Amino acid sequence: MSSVKIVNLNKSFNNINVLKSINLSINEGEIISLLGPSGCGKSTTLNIIAGILDFDKGDILFDGNSIKNIPTGKRDVAIVFQDYFLFPHMNVFENIEFGLKMKKIKKCERNKKVQELIDLVKLNGYEKKYPSQISGGQKQRVAIARSLAINPKVLLLDEPFSNLDINLRQEMREFVLNLQKKLKITTILVTHDKEEALMMSDKIAVMVNGEIKQFDTPKNLYEKPNSKVVANIFGERN
Ligand code: ADP
Ligand code: MG
Repeated sequence: MSSVKIVNLNKSFNNINVLKSINLSINEGEIISLLGPSGCGKSTTLNIIAGILDFDKGDILFDGNSIKNIPTGKRDVAIVFQDYFLFPHMNVFENIEFGLKMKKIKKCERNKKVQELIDLVKLNGYEKKYPSQISGGQKQRVAIARSLAINPKVLLLDEPFSNLDINLRQEMREFVLNLQKKLKITTILVTHDKEEALMMSDKIAVMVNGEIKQFDTPKNLYEKPNSKVVANIFGERN
């Protein structure tokens, strides 16, 4: 697993500055949340870390080393999206196997790894089902298993529970948190849901309009909000 450091990260789209010098420091094995309203720049930040999107200024370090010039496929990062993006024409087994095939891992090794992942996300018996034949929670577990197949050092979750109904959402939050603790994988969760951030995170970065207002433990966000904005979200006093 890796520590992650984001230093003065800046990004503009069409001259509109959507990330304004973002700084974040995440210890190895920690889970943190990026919490903020729609449009504040959460997905942009994750996509930049994943290497799907480039950036204008700043740097990203894994274990102290810049990953600026490392292409997406070699970053040891996995990203899971709200919409799962499973391949509809592949069954559960094949979806999870996909990344391993890309990496040219041998068939017997692939089978072993996929079976481990199926056990891990508790999808035994569903190997031959297609995405259209399983529930939202199961699809999300396939997406998570697929992302873990490449043994990422950093896991990025972009509002992974938003499409799930409320009961399933709670169950999946607990499931992912248990998995994170078990694997001790450095994780960044993007969410606009305060309760979710509170339940799942060692630390929360409160993001508003392309800026991180405060990056702190849930306790400190409650007890020592550093601004009116943060106090309005968390604070007992303003
Ligand atoms: P969030 O994930 O917090 O909802 P995003 O990171 O998706 O926010 O978007 C941040 C801002 O950047 C928004 O104003 C959005 O409209 C803009 N934006 C995101 N992607 C693009 C793009 N590809 N082209 C232009 N503007 C974009
Ligand atoms: Mg988003």
